[in-house]
Order: sequence, then C-alpha cells, then structure tokens
Amino acid sequence: MYVEIVFPLSLDQAFTYSVPDELNDVVQVGQRVIASLGRRKQQGMIIGIKSDPPSDFTGKLKSFENIVDPVPVFGGKLINLLKWMSRYYFTPLGKVIQSAIPSDARLKKEIIIQATALLHGSDEFTRFIENHRVVRMSALKRKFGAEIALTRVGRLQRQGLLELENEFEFKGTRGKHYLVVPDLGRDSEIPTNARAQQRAFDVLNDFPEGIALDKLKEEHEVYMPIIKKLADRGLVKLQEVEPDIDPLKDYHRPPPKDIQLNHEQQIAYNEVKRSIDEHIFTPFMLFGVAGSGKTEVYLNATAHALEQGRSIIILVPEIALAPQIAYRFQSRFGNIVALWHSGLKGAERLWTWQQIQKSRFRIVVGARSAVLTPLSDLGLIIVDEEQENSYKQQDTEPRYHARDVALVRGREEKAVVLLGSATPSLETYFNLSSGRYKGLHLTKRWEKAKPPLVDLVDMGAEREETRDYSNPFSRKLISAIHETLENDKQVILFQNRRGYAPVITCKDCNWTMACPHDEMSLTYHKIGNKMRCHFCDFEAPTPSSCPECRSLDLKFGGMGTQMVEEALESQFSDVPICRMDMDTTRGKGAHTKLLGDFARGQYKILLGTQMIAKGLDFENVTLVGVINADSGLHFPDFRSRETTFQLVYQVSGRSGRGEHPGRVVVQSWMPDDISIQCATRTDVKLFYKVN
Ligand code: ADP
Ligand code: ZN
Repeated sequence: MYVEIVFPLSLDQAFTYSVPDELNDVVQVGQRVIASLGRRKQQGMIIGIKSDPPSDFTGKLKSFENIVDPVPVFGGKLINLLKWMSRYYFTPLGKVIQSAIPSDARLKKEIIIQATALLHGSDEFTRFIENHRVVRMSALKRKFGAEIALTRVGRLQRQGLLELENEFEFKGTRGKHYLVVPDLGRDSEIPTNARAQQRAFDVLNDFPEGIALDKLKEEHEVYMPIIKKLADRGLVKLQEVEPDIDPLKDYHRPPPKDIQLNHEQQIAYNEVKRSIDEHIFTPFMLFGVAGSGKTEVYLNATAHALEQGRSIIILVPEIALAPQIAYRFQSRFGNIVALWHSGLKGAERLWTWQQIQKSRFRIVVGARSAVLTPLSDLGLIIVDEEQENSYKQQDTEPRYHARDVALVRGREEKAVVLLGSATPSLETYFNLSSGRYKGLHLTKRWEKAKPPLVDLVDMGAEREETRDYSNPFSRKLISAIHETLENDKQVILFQNRRGYAPVITCKDCNWTMACPHDEMSLTYHKIGNKMRCHFCDFEAPTPSSCPECRSLDLKFGGMGTQMVEEALESQFSDVPICRMDMDTTRGKGAHTKLLGDFARGQYKILLGTQMIAKGLDFENVTLVGVINADSGLHFPDFRSRETTFQLVYQVSGRSGRGEHPGRVVVQSWMPDDISIQCATRTDVKLFYKVN
C-alpha cells in the first residue's frame, strides 16, 4: 500500500510513501503522519491511498514513520475541497490544510539537538550542550535567548558538530476546562510557609460555588500547579465542565415568536426542502428585501435538513455585529448550535472544533472560517448577506472567499447552498440572471411593517440656503430626530468615517498630513489628541503649525464620527447617545454590550460607522439618518459604487422593522449619482441593469 502525503511547507507537491506493514489496516485519508522528508522528520497529512507506486519510480519507496491521529482530522470530501482551494487560490495544499486546523490542535515542532563530536567549547553555551548530550531547542532559547541559540546552533551545525532532528507533539492544552470548587472551612491544613497556597485559598473563599480555572488564571493570577497542591490536600475539587463561550451573553434577547410562513416564504422553503431531499448540489439565491423574512426561511430549511440527519453551516459576516441571527438559531435549536466566532480563544476554539468533529454540534453559525469546519453529512450551507466583503480573507494565505468556498463545498457534499441578500453582489446577480443559481424571491416585508419613507437631501443646496457650513445635519434631519424622540422612539445615525476629521491641511501652502508608511491621509482623533492612520495604525502628535511653511493656519477637513457626536451632544444636549465605531468597540464583547444596551433603550440615538449597517433589527427604531451617503464613492476601489448602493440601501432598511412605520433621511452631495438614486428609491433592478 502507498500513501500520498503533503507537508505544511511552501512546497506545492505531494510525496508518495509506502505504508509500514503494521499500519496497513489503520491508514485513512485525512490522518496526520510523521515522515522523513530530506534529512528531517516532518509532519504531514495523508491525502490519498494507492495500491501501486508511481509508474515512473523504480527504486524502493521510503515508508513513513507513524500516524498521529487515530481518527482522520478531515473526511475525504473536505480534503477534496481543500485541494480545490489550493489550486484555485494558488496556495500549497499543505498550507491550506494547516490553515483549516485551529492552532491549538496543531502539532508543536521541537528541534532536538545532539552533539556528534567533541565541541571543545570553553564557553557556557557549548558546555551546556556537551553536558546534556541531547538538548531541546526550546531549552536553549530559554537559557540563552532565541537569537543566540539559533545563530550558535546554526554555526555549530555547519561545522558538522551537531545533528538536529524534528519532533512533534500536541500543544499543551487539549481543550479541557475545569471548575475549581473549594472545600471551605479546612484552611488550617495549609502549612504556614505555603504562602502561595494560602493566597489561592483566600481567593477561592469568595467563590464557594466554584470558579472556572481560566478565570482564576486571568483575573486572579492563580495557576494550575498551586491548585493541584490544594487538591492533593483535599481542599479543592476539580470538576470538568464545558467552557463558557457564548458571545451573546450580554445581548438583549427578544422572546421567540410563533411564526406561520407567508405565501412567498412557503414557496421558497418548499424549493429548498425538495433539493435537500434530492441530495444533489443546488445553489439558490434568496433575493429578499430587508425584513422580508429571509431568516425565517433559513430556520425552517435548517429544521428540515436536521430531520433528514444532515448538518448545517450558516455563514454570517460577523457574529458580534449581527447577534440577532445567531441568537435566533440558538434559541430555536438549543445546544446543538456551535457559534464559531473571532472571540474564541485557543482552548475554546479547540474544544468547539472537537465537539463539531464528534457531531455533538450539528449546526455551526459563524464567520468565514466556519465554512471549513469538519461537520459530517453536511446538507445545507447558508450564506447570509452574501455580498459582504468580510467573506474575503485578505491578509493571510489562503486568500479565499468564503461564499465561493461554500459553493464548492456544497458541490462536494451534494448539499444545498442558499445565498441570501437584499442587495446581492454584481457577480451573484449575474449568476442568477444567467440561470446558474435558482432564484427565490421575497418581495414583501412581513405584513405589519410598511416600507420606510425615504427623503433625499441635497446638502449642496441645503448649505446655500442656510449659509451654515459647519452643521453636519440638515434641517429635515434635525426635525425628524426631534419628532422621533418626542414619540419615544429611537434613532440610528450613520457616518462612515471614524475619528474627528479625516484630513488636516495647511490653508497657506496646501500641505496635508500623510502617513509615512502608506501615504494615506492621517485622521485627527480629538479623543487622545492624536493623528492616526486607519490603514496601518501609525500614530503621530497633532501638529500645531505647518512643517512646510510654518503657517499656523491649519484646518480640519471632512467629518468623522467624533465630530458628529460632538455636534449631536450640543444640539440634543440631554439625549443619551451611543457612538459605535472601531474606537469604541475594541474590547472583547464590546459590540454585543453596546448593541444590547441600545436594544434595552439605554440610549436614544445610536451613531456609528458601517459596522452598524449589518443585519440590525431593532423594533423601536423608526428613524435612520445617513449623514453623508457619498463618502464611500470616492474610494479607489472598483466596487465603490456597488458598496455605496448596498450600504445606503441596507441602512434604509433598518428603519421601522417593528409595527411602527419608518423614516429615512439620506444626506448627499451627489444626489444624482445612480447608486444614491437607486438606493433611496429602493430600485434594485435598475441598479443592476445599469451596471
Ligand atoms: P430578513 O432576514 O429578511 O431581514 P427576518 O427573517 O429577520 O427578515 O424577518 C423580519 C421580521 O419579520 C422578524 O422580526 C421576523 O420575526 C418577522 N417575520 C418574518 N416572517 C414572518 C411571518 N411569516 N409572520 C410573522 N412575522 C414574520
Ligand atoms: Zn504649509
């Protein structure tokens, strides 16, 4: 028997090895193995099994050394998908495979160093190696520092004095979580000199019911060895528990509704259901205006796939930004739903992944990498808001697009792929009109909600008339805000630039302050009084004079969320306002917290960047204001018109989602632009036709 193995190296090639006799019954595609490649051992993965050696090979093939995983990490269909990704995105297969394994489930490489001759060293470094005979690189790095260890070992190896070998082991954490429960009232048994144990026990005093080990480490700096000692004394017990990985803890949870699908939803659901039963790959595009009930179709299709014993992946742009949809799946399907999100830390991610492998989770709701999770018997993949550019992985290999990968995975698994959007990307619209995707249409918002009234304000004309050149708000928007607040409803305002002012320029010589790394203009942040590059995070102090001509006449241009917030605070002085942008949501869980507080009514006005445009559903919001609709039109991106259209259209859909009619005020300097026109008239067809 022979196997093909790829290695997680920049080598776009598979190697054939023979299988050691005793492993003939054990080898499977998707297992990791240790095999020697060149002079060293490497870890690799079996991607194929054959009964014959390659025809052009005549000698005797090496056999690999050992199998790491008794059960394959990936099934054959997922391996096929990873092979496709490798070809399509020009990334070596070994690297694609590595990227699909959570880092805590990866093998840790350790370099083992052995002296082959007398080193005749008189210094500490060589004596250390000689005394130990076999040394681990990590030990040398700890003792002498990484740089010294690497250069000295390299030099001695080139002189032929050392031999190096790779060894692989699992990383420390195996995804176990413990609750530490103290047995209070027995502290007299700790010896007086065991200060650390006493301190740990004092901390535990405050948690008679027990506390998670992770929390003890993070918040109280009490670590496992001390806990072990207390456990040996019988003072604490360790209980294995499931990790607490719910990103929606702080989210305001509306009660689930009892829902009867309307006629259009029923048609869409029936089509999807039939394709699930037929067990053939079918791509659908669910084209539905905001609030038309797409999520209800997703939920019903998911329930049906589950009944058929199939598993389901739901891709969302980002769970923290759109908690509603994840929450609706959780509340309907309970503890078989895994939330795969960016806040998962090493051990939690590993645990979740293992539970997916063991089929304890049958539904995965998550951002783009959820498309690669090892669910078995996949029957349905849903891609919500398929046009979102966060589905594209930009900066690490493989640079894949999760929607496209979802389609190929669907093909491999003979599953249904359901793309959903009110404003599909142009390529998806094309695939829909050319018949590659089957179209499903939801044209009506659910019965009680009426389409919002949209006002388009020409800001150029507004300023001519009012002669007020600094107020970010038009008269129409101001009166609409007052009216909404008087009715005890909430307002969402949208300004797609964070910071205070996006540019600073010299009035005398036209100098503008740019980032020394990438030449993007620096944004002034009033909070912290800094100039910041939003591209690379470079920071500089705010200049008080022009470095070119010494003029003191510097002026801020453009308008960021901080400036809008300031204007709001002065014009609506006793209204609680919440600003949501990258600067106010850095901490873990900050998004969900702010959105939850807004949903609970603690704020009357929510002001934010594009991050608030995605999938928000607040019953009490009846006014949406877009401060500057065309800010995205000037970005040097071939999609800028498309994304402007999608953004303005989506934001408009945020208003009046409950039983109250909604209103939208869109301010623009280019009110005649086709993307603004189509978005404010909610004419999707026209937009796609002209493009
Ligand atoms: P979308 O995902 O298209 O934006 P949702 O599925 O979130 O729309 O539906 C919008 C709102 O309408 C939700 O509050 C949902 O509970 C409600 N809804 C959807 N379909 C129905 C229905 N058939 N009957 C009653 N309410 C519905
Ligand atoms: Zn100047």
